[in-house]
Amino acid sequence: MRKCVLAANWKMNHTSRDVRRYVDRFLKGLRLDDRAEAILFVPFPYLKLVADLLQGAKNVGVGAQNLHWEPSGAYTGEVSAEMITDSGARYVLVGHSERRKYFGEDDQAVNRKLRRSIDASLRPVLCLGETWEERQGGLTEKVTTRSLQVGLQGIRAEDLSTVYVAYEPVWAIGTGRHATPEQAEEVHTRLRGVIASGFGRAQAEAIPILYGGSTNPENTPELMRAPDIDGLLVGGASLDPEKFRKMIESGIEACGC
Ligand code: PEP
Repeated sequence: MRKCVLAANWKMNHTSRDVRRYVDRFLKGLRLDDRAEAILFVPFPYLKLVADLLQGAKNVGVGAQNLHWEPSGAYTGEVSAEMITDSGARYVLVGHSERRKYFGEDDQAVNRKLRRSIDASLRPVLCLGETWEERQGGLTEKVTTRSLQVGLQGIRAEDLSTVYVAYEPVWAIGTGRHATPEQAEEVHTRLRGVIASGFGRAQAEAIPILYGGSTNPENTPELMRAPDIDGLLVGGASLDPEKFRKMIESGIEACGC
C-alpha cells in the first residue's frame, strides 16, 4: 500500500512572522497516522525555523524547493544538499516547472540534482509535466516519459524507494484550471508503467505519484479518489494553513490509504 503524500509548495512567499503563525495554525488539530505524510516546501531561509517548529509533529516534514548538483564550490548564490539537510530538511523539489521555465533547467540538470539529493540522503520529488501547446500537439506522453526517464537516469533500483514523482501539467499550475481526474490518472498510470519497465513492477507499485496544478479543497476528493493519484503538490491553496489542512484531511479520506 502506497502512502498518501500531501505537499505544500509555498514558492517565494511568507516571511518569518507569517511562518510562525502558519505552522501554529496548521498543526492545530492535525493528526496524521503512518499511512500519510505532509511536507512543507519552504524558502531556504526558513528551513531551519520550520524544522524547529515542526519538532514532535508526527509525519510532517520540511523540504527545500531546489538544490545545486554539486556538494560545494564556487557557485555564488546556490545552496547545496548538505546545507539543506543541515537545516533539518529531509525533502527537496527537483525540476519544478518554474525552475525549468525561469531558470532554464532541462531534464539533464534535473537528473544531476536528483542524483545529488539521493547521495545526500534527501528525498527528492521529481516534478514534470507538459505545456498546453505540447498537450494540444499530442506530445504529453512523449514529454512526460522523457522527463521521467532522463530524470531517473543512473538511479539504482534500491534508491528509487526514496523518490517521489509529481505530475504537474504546466498549463494547470497557478491557472485555476486543473487536470480532470481522468487526465491525471491516464498520465500517472503510464508513468508508473515507465517506472516498471526501467526498475521493475514492485518498485513502480511502491512509488508515490503526486498530482499538482490548481488543486483546492473542492477538487481534492475527486482527484484523490483516482487509484494512481497518491497525493497532491499544492501551490496557491497551501498558503492558507486551514485550507491546506482541510485538503490533507479530505484527501486522505478520499484516497483510502
Ligand atoms: C505548484 O506550484 O507546484 C502548484 C501546483 O501550484 P498551484 O497549486 O498554485 O497550481
